[in-house]
Amino acid sequence: PAVSNPFPARVDKERHVRVALADRSYDILIGEGLLDRAGAEIAARLPGVRAVIVTDATVAELYLARLEIALAGAGIQTRAVTLPAGETTKSFAHLEATVDAILQARLERGDVVIALGGGVIGDLAGFASAIVKRGTNFVQVPTTLLAQVDSSVGGKTGINTPHGKNLVGAFHQPSLVLADIATLDTLSPREFAAGYAEVVKYGLIDRPDFFDFLERHRGSVFAGGPERSEAIAISCQAKADVVAADERETGARALLNLGHTFGHALERAVAYDPARLVHGEGVAIGMALAHRFSRTLGLCSGQDAGRVTAHLEAAGLPTTIGAIPGPRLGRETLMEAIAQDKKVSRGRLTFILTRGLGQAFVSKDVDPEAVVRFLDEELT
Ligand code: NAD
Ligand code: MG
Repeated sequence: PAVSNPFPARVDKERHVRVALADRSYDILIGEGLLDRAGAEIAARLPGVRAVIVTDATVAELYLARLEIALAGAGIQTRAVTLPAGETTKSFAHLEATVDAILQARLERGDVVIALGGGVIGDLAGFASAIVKRGTNFVQVPTTLLAQVDSSVGGKTGINTPHGKNLVGAFHQPSLVLADIATLDTLSPREFAAGYAEVVKYGLIDRPDFFDFLERHRGSVFAGGPERSEAIAISCQAKADVVAADERETGARALLNLGHTFGHALERAVAYDPARLVHGEGVAIGMALAHRFSRTLGLCSGQDAGRVTAHLEAAGLPTTIGAIPGPRLGRETLMEAIAQDKKVSRGRLTFILTRGLGQAFVSKDVDPEAVVRFLDEELT
């Protein structure tokens, strides 16, 4: 006889990724409704802790009460620190306020700092957690696609200074990452697409099958179908693999910068104005440029470069310098911004180039003149 299921069918099953770092190993859980189970998941791994939740005003409005209820349900005492939303929050001033609130709450080393929000909150709260009492436990509850597939995994934390982005920070791995994919439903389409650029990046680095998968399932990933959590899990696995191989970025981790040399230069050239360009959009243009540049250098086929551009465009992402709104960016401005990037040595530039889909490699020997000629081509 048919017994009716009292529970609504789950859209997709929960996925687990393990970041293997010896005694700093941790789980990434990916699925719907994890926010409401956060108390149980944290208590199971860190019994008896108290918590300080760090979040931003936008995310607090949407999700803070639910997280607090979930933690209280598991007997975890909490305090919350709500900061303004936006990149400027990654500053010494907000770090000081956050550290102050954590100390005020009398958190001990064995207690936990929880980051609830996007990459800004994750980086700032993670850094605060790294330095309070020389390191407290840290849990990431990422709520943007970018944070779920990139910034919450790998242990890089930090803040910006007037000298540049992410110049002050520490490696501090979380004890757990809870990626509730249902929170992505409130993300603006623009922010979702920007995070998607980093998803595509993992395919383009060394997972051509994943790029094929994204070509087939982009619609479902955007619409919240079952392929969404699969794409996030594969992305986390990809990042986890790179981090496990090179935790402190002395080698292979540099591949994660695919699209970022051009991307960072573009961000710098628009003075980090999010109205013109957000990070993921810069990465999308940067990846399209890296593939076209590789084609120009005779490394990658025009067909592969074309597939990359077409896929990013279909996802609503920009793929040309000319697509950036506002005053036109010139070649000099861009070359200056590229030269300011840390990746210059003895007059040669470091770029992530590619031999085709999923065949990226680090080149430390790019001729600046070749970049100039390529940019001139791109800008006409
Ligand atoms: P963000 O944290 O500023 O979030 C983007 C915007 O979305 C914010 O306004 C935020 O309030 C809002 N938001 C967050 N979650 C939401 C939700 N579920 N619904 C509605 N709105 C929501 O930006 P981001 O793109 O998540 O992260 C960018 C930051 O991440 C940068 O500072 C970058 O340097 C950092 N980053 C760090 C690493 C790392 O390895 N540590 C990697 C990549 C990027
Ligand atoms: Mg990035």
